Amino acid sequence: MMIKRSDCEIETEIGQWIIFTKGRIVIRKGEINVPLAHINEFTFLENYREEVHQLPPLHESAQKSPPVFVVDLGAETIEDEQWDSVSLRHLLFEQQDIGFSVVGRAWQYVHFLRTHQFCGQCGSHTERVNWEMAVHCHRCHHRSYPRVSPCIIVSIHNNEKLLLAKGVRHKEANMYSTLAGFVESGESLEEAVHREVFEEVGVKVKNLRYIDSQPWPFPHSIMVGFIAEYESGEIRCQENEIDDAQWFSVDALPTIPPPFSIAGQLIAKTLSQLADK
Ligand SMILES: [Zn+2]
Repeated sequence: MMIKRSDCEIETEIGQWIIFTKGRIVIRKGEINVPLAHINEFTFLENYREEVHQLPPLHESAQKSPPVFVVDLGAETIEDEQWDSVSLRHLLFEQQDIGFSVVGRAWQYVHFLRTHQFCGQCGSHTERVNWEMAVHCHRCHHRSYPRVSPCIIVSIHNNEKLLLAKGVRHKEANMYSTLAGFVESGESLEEAVHREVFEEVGVKVKNLRYIDSQPWPFPHSIMVGFIAEYESGEIRCQENEIDDAQWFSVDALPTIPPPFSIAGQLIAKTLSQLADK
């Protein structure tokens, strides 16, 4: 649900402002967080007052927090002494107090609007629905909602060893992580785990256990996390996806993802389960 606030509410309330310019977010110079501010502090928003939306809180506990206002400046960049911008990824990784979900949700909404300006069925201009997060075509009545793409992510262990892989796209970071991949149409989450693991590293797994999930806004995934046991097969990396994959001993792990990511959490959980055995 996305509520458009009346001008006077935006004018009077102090809020957290998530302002997008291209794929970046506006921050105060010298700070890495979403600014807590009054609209008048953003002189560059003069022509965007109609574009300000409030992101409704997802959980009751967030209702006590200041309102979150979202604005998309599109391709416009800001030249202002007071303000700077930072990439979404950098902001999310550096500053987690406003929450992965709030900034991630704001980005998914903005990304959705940017990519749904026209109806996918008849090609007419769409209009925002002001009482839910959707766009509507008034010609053919087709309605679109933000896309959420399920992805499985799995930590695989064999006795005291973890199977971790370095993706082709993250080669430079030299980081080894759990395997992950999109769920295909018509496939269950478990089937996706078996297929992805076999495609990416050529091994078979068993005893899948669901652990946790995490929204991942790059650009609109929901990561569904599992732990699985090795069953059979030798590692054979899929050329286009995996640069390297190895069995790592629990006491000699490579660089792994940070603990706030679900990959980091699955690895930590697998290690603690192995330690309890
Ligand atoms: Zn249409």
